[in-house]
Amino acid sequence: MSLNKESRKDILIIGGGIIGCSTAYQLSRHPSFSPSTTTIKVIEASKHGPAQGASGKAGGLVAKWAYPKELVAVSFAEHVKLAQEHNGKDRWGWRFVGCGSWEGKGAVLSDDASGTGVGAGGRRKSLEKTLGLEGGRKSDPASRKRKGLPEDLLWVDEGLTHSYSPMASDGDTAQVHPFLFTTSMMDLAVERGAELISGRVTSLNISDGKVTGVTFVNTHSGQNETLPATDIILAAGAWSPSVLPSLPISATRAHSITIHPQPSVNISPYVLFTEIALPERRGLTVSPEIYARPGNEVYACGPGDDSLLPENVDDVLVDETACESIHKHVSSISPELRDGTVDKRQACFLPIVETGGGPMVGAASKVAQGLFIATGHTCWGICNAPGTAKALSELIMDGRIQCANLKRLDPSNFI
Ligand SMILES: Cc1cc2nc3c(=O)[nH]c(=O)nc-3n(C[C@H](O)[C@H](O)[C@H](O)COP(=O)(O)OP(=O)(O)OC[C@H]3O[C@@H](n4cnc5c(N)ncnc54)[C@H](O)[C@@H]3O)c2cc1C
Repeated sequence: MSLNKESRKDILIIGGGIIGCSTAYQLSRHPSFSPSTTTIKVIEASKHGPAQGASGKAGGLVAKWAYPKELVAVSFAEHVKLAQEHNGKDRWGWRFVGCGSWEGKGAVLSDDASGTGVGAGGRRKSLEKTLGLEGGRKSDPASRKRKGLPEDLLWVDEGLTHSYSPMASDGDTAQVHPFLFTTSMMDLAVERGAELISGRVTSLNISDGKVTGVTFVNTHSGQNETLPATDIILAAGAWSPSVLPSLPISATRAHSITIHPQPSVNISPYVLFTEIALPERRGLTVSPEIYARPGNEVYACGPGDDSLLPENVDDVLVDETACESIHKHVSSISPELRDGTVDKRQACFLPIVETGGGPMVGAASKVAQGLFIATGHTCWGICNAPGTAKALSELIMDGRIQCANLKRLDPSNFI
């Protein structure tokens, strides 16, 4: 028996970031999903596959105290469930972490220790006479307590610490490795029949007020092609306005690095929001975020800048001096990080709703029937991806969102 056109769904997701891949996953797990009646395709512009943008280069914090609350509530619970179901601990580094704001001063570092003298990926050696932090290494339990430093947070210098304040209660903050989480979501969706296509969407095809598909440039052949679809989810992060120009989304670039400390060093699981007074520039403070990760990896990111968004995620430029600055700043409060090996130096763009109050999650019926928007997740897209994805899967498969009240995030409030 052939299905009539109304009951068939050909769902196309534009963007293989965490939002797109998580949505493919949730659709493929929806109780009404059947490969015989529904197809799920994710189209991604990078020639390297999913998670090449912010979703592969973010910190990976997942917090009950993130925002917006209505999306966090469902997202945090989904993260816990996903980790249980798919062994997230081993598969994408899921774990609970301590999280706090750290204030203090940086030690004076020589130029060599700032990273300019070491080539990309080179091993950084500790030269004893340049260890500006050494004086502060003596750990006094009373002083640690007074400053609020947890007993096991031994990889920042106590002598340089003014104060440490936990940002949340135990159990309220967790983390994932964003690249591994995103690619796992895609792989798990593919196991249920979803498909990944390599191409950059150049336009939505709409007829009689309804989506009919997209036109895209095939990444491998360079040829223009079309793909039919009954439902389209625009989840292209900072690039979403290139497909739908009326979206008020802007892009902010941010740099980050990963460091592998010496194998003998124990980096306890903390995420630090720092405020470091620079010794060489009186009155100037910097605020890198530092994320200990499983597998002896530490991630650190710096501030955003207003670099222009390139056409393709593969063309995002990395400013090496920005990466060196991040390393210099985190090194100035931690000999463990200074003596580690810098592995990745990278940059990415996070999507920001220009009018504030995002992300946008829901149907864009004013633009076309069958069009859905999921973008503008700012600095909480890793945290909020599972909830966004669950809501969209319900909206598309059941006709309404049941897991949360997301009226505030309805795209009609923004477009
Ligand atoms: C430095 C930094 C640290 C962060 N830390 C955290 C954190 O700790 N916790 C947290 O919750 N969030 C964090 N974030 C935010 C988070 O990374 C983003 O909100 C999230 O990754 C956005 O996901 P996305 O899928 O919308 O976008 P992206 O990851 O940018 O994915 C969009 C994808 O769409 C593709 N695409 C674009 N245009 C097209 C097209 N025309 N056709 C086909 N494909 C297209 C792109 O190539 C890209 O792969 C951080 C962000 C930054 C920059």
